[in-house]
Amino acid sequence: MEAKPWLSQYPPEIPAHLEIQEATVQDYLKRTSEKYPEKVAIHFMGKELTYKQVYNYAKKLAAYLQELGIEKGDRVAIMLPNTPQSIISYYAILMAGGIVVQTNPQYMERELEYQMKDSGAKAIITLDILFPRVSKIIAKTNLENIIVTAIKDYLPFPKNLVYPYIQKKQYGLIVNVKHEGQNHLFTEIMKKPAGKWKQYELDFEEDMAVLQYTGGTTGFPKGVMLTHKNLIANAAMSNAWLYKCKEGEETVLAILPFFHVYGMTAVLILSVMQGQKMVLLPKFDAETTLKTIEKQKPTLFPGAPTIYIGLLNHPDIKKYDLSSIDSCISGSAPLPVEVQERFEEVTGGKLVEGYGLTESSPVTHANFLWDKKRVKGSIGVPWPDTDAAIFSLETGEPLPPGEIGELAVKGPQVMKGYWNRQEETEQVLKDGWLLTGDLGYMDEEGYFYIVDRKKDMIIAGGFNIYPREIEEVLYEHPAVQEVVAAGIPDPYRGETVKVYVVLKEGKEASEEELNEYSRKHLAAYKVPRLYEFRKELPKTAVGKILRRALVDEEKAKIEDH
Ligand code: AMP
Repeated sequence: MEAKPWLSQYPPEIPAHLEIQEATVQDYLKRTSEKYPEKVAIHFMGKELTYKQVYNYAKKLAAYLQELGIEKGDRVAIMLPNTPQSIISYYAILMAGGIVVQTNPQYMERELEYQMKDSGAKAIITLDILFPRVSKIIAKTNLENIIVTAIKDYLPFPKNLVYPYIQKKQYGLIVNVKHEGQNHLFTEIMKKPAGKWKQYELDFEEDMAVLQYTGGTTGFPKGVMLTHKNLIANAAMSNAWLYKCKEGEETVLAILPFFHVYGMTAVLILSVMQGQKMVLLPKFDAETTLKTIEKQKPTLFPGAPTIYIGLLNHPDIKKYDLSSIDSCISGSAPLPVEVQERFEEVTGGKLVEGYGLTESSPVTHANFLWDKKRVKGSIGVPWPDTDAAIFSLETGEPLPPGEIGELAVKGPQVMKGYWNRQEETEQVLKDGWLLTGDLGYMDEEGYFYIVDRKKDMIIAGGFNIYPREIEEVLYEHPAVQEVVAAGIPDPYRGETVKVYVVLKEGKEASEEELNEYSRKHLAAYKVPRLYEFRKELPKTAVGKILRRALVDEEKAKIEDH
């Protein structure tokens, strides 16, 4: 058995090893703005900004942040949906020497307070509508400054754009601000001439660019320390993988939130590196997305399964011209084969499955987009400079092809560790290997398969059941739009399989019908015992279905009895 069998699958265009220049994430914005100054960088709600404009605005904000006292290594949070301001803020924080802390705009006070305390962020850039939430927790944190913008507050600015809401509330709320901090309006900062801006020397290998929180779906969030090297290495790998894309000529649909690691690397970094036009959508809505694709003609569309499913379920999808779409890598969750095939059919483009996690900046595996064998249902092969292995859950030893164990990965994209959590870091980083917590196997040719998360495996009556297998079967049922299988407590079998189903609009299927269907395609012990029909399923911001939330609901019901 070859040590890395996947390398013999690589087409000649993809090198097994990449020479990476030691440039920081923000250096790439500068480079692109010099190389393509007049090229459109951002398209947002009908307005456009060039790379030169984006860089100049970022410089202004960087200087302003330094005036506010931000120094090298200080954490600055961004709590924004995908907007021009979120891109400008991201680069400005890095240019000021700071570390970006991405915050989900849906966070409620408790989650926000936890993240701000844990990261020790000194400033936050947010939206007017979120300002009341931020101001409530500020006194309990290290936050000294809030910079406020509004969703339509894009640049170049409409005249006199000072939101009356903020004006009215501002003074009352300042009282709550610790350290006599201030609230600042983004538009006002952008109107000022750029101040002096100090550029720090940064250590490519050691200095953190982003403190990226993860774990929200399983436990309390931990800050993942991602260095410039981690992020640039992963963007360079994506660049190598997308070898047919032409620098300065592609348009990307930026629908994945930038506050999630996948949206951050796939768009915020890679697109800037390649001088792409970024068409921003602040939230997912199938109709707006379809219209935007028809009008803006993106060639690239990184996404997550639920996004593609959402589009495919739009009743009028066939009426839109989606033929500009060329390459899509789906990540974050398993991509049902049926979804992949239907999406390729309606767009004529390629949709392949990739895999990654926050701790690896994020991508470690993907299927080939062109020329080579694509294995449906597989996460593909490890990326350049990336090693992968399957370790036995019992002995911790590497397993041969075909055997299921824990997937481990190694490479320059693997995080430095968890912020202030030595013990948790040691649990997942062992001899340079990152233990992913996902169960899977590799075939003889070096293609990898995820069977499930270690934590999601259902043990019913002593049998190991992987929810994903049940979901794959039910996704093939013509009436099923979305489905998630979960192991819920059962007095006799320990756990039992329950599925939660969302039916397609206008379609019907009874519990009996689904049950019969499952029995036809699954071994008896895997057939769900319980079915529940819902209008929608709880999801994270990138559309990952929150299986845990459903299990917790069941547990709470049992406790109430
Ligand atoms: P996050 O750190 O939020 O990006 O979540 C990472 C986790 O998402 C991984 O550990 C996997 O459990 C899951 N994941 C990502 N991509 C895939 C995929 N293609 N198939 C199955 N699970 C995936």
